[in-house]
Amino acid sequence: MVEIKTDTSIEAMRVAGRIVAQALTAVREAAAVGVSLRDLDRTARAVLADADAGSPFLGYRPNWAPTPFPAVICTSVNDAIVHGIPDDHRLRDGDLVSIDCGAIHGGWVGDAAVSFTVGRARPEDAALIATAEEALDAGIAAATVGNRIGDIAHAVGRVCRAAGYGIPDGFGGHGVGRHMHEDPGVPNEGRPGRGMPLRHGMVLAIEPMVIGGGKDGHYTARDGWTIRTADGSRASHAEHTVAITDDGPRILTAL
Ligand code: MG
Ligand code: MG
Repeated sequence: MVEIKTDTSIEAMRVAGRIVAQALTAVREAAAVGVSLRDLDRTARAVLADADAGSPFLGYRPNWAPTPFPAVICTSVNDAIVHGIPDDHRLRDGDLVSIDCGAIHGGWVGDAAVSFTVGRARPEDAALIATAEEALDAGIAAATVGNRIGDIAHAVGRVCRAAGYGIPDGFGGHGVGRHMHEDPGVPNEGRPGRGMPLRHGMVLAIEPMVIGGGKDGHYTARDGWTIRTADGSRASHAEHTVAITDDGPRILTAL
């Protein structure tokens, strides 16, 4: 069931969303060669604590997960696409890092992700990151009243495919509200004009993922969480929580 949010609820979600943006900004600033993924998690925890916010990630255990998620961010490095667990891995020159973060404030959730490189970026990684961001922008632009879920999916997928990248099947965006994952699902590829009509008050996480090698294959690592590319190529992820309004899409996880 899709929960339509009131304008007051959307304002409250904006507060949660801004906290996510602040956490991602702090993590990005802290990320450098030699810094561990666990250090980045500590950085995000401090931002959430300062803002009196909780984490929808910490302790999260969907039915497929072997263990509760142990951190407030996902850290997915190089061939990891999403859901990487922060550990003692220290960032190396040229690593491509995707950070996914959530916050709960006033009972409302924000969810966003950003990808960047540490140290000297390889040109192909910069292109991969730029394409995920471009796909996110296209998806947000399609998140308008009168459009349908398929229009968002099509806009996202078209940008990724035009660049020659793979799209991991089975992963995509979702409704956001009092829970991190609500209806409807927002696929990263689809047919325009299909699916649920978009209405004022729907709040969606739109989150393109692209695989540099051009194939869609992926697998779950032994930790039961981390999703990696099947061909070992690098991946990039970008995400915003977006409210659909009569005045157009509103990004709730901007700074
Ligand atoms: Mg996320
Ligand atoms: Mg999400």
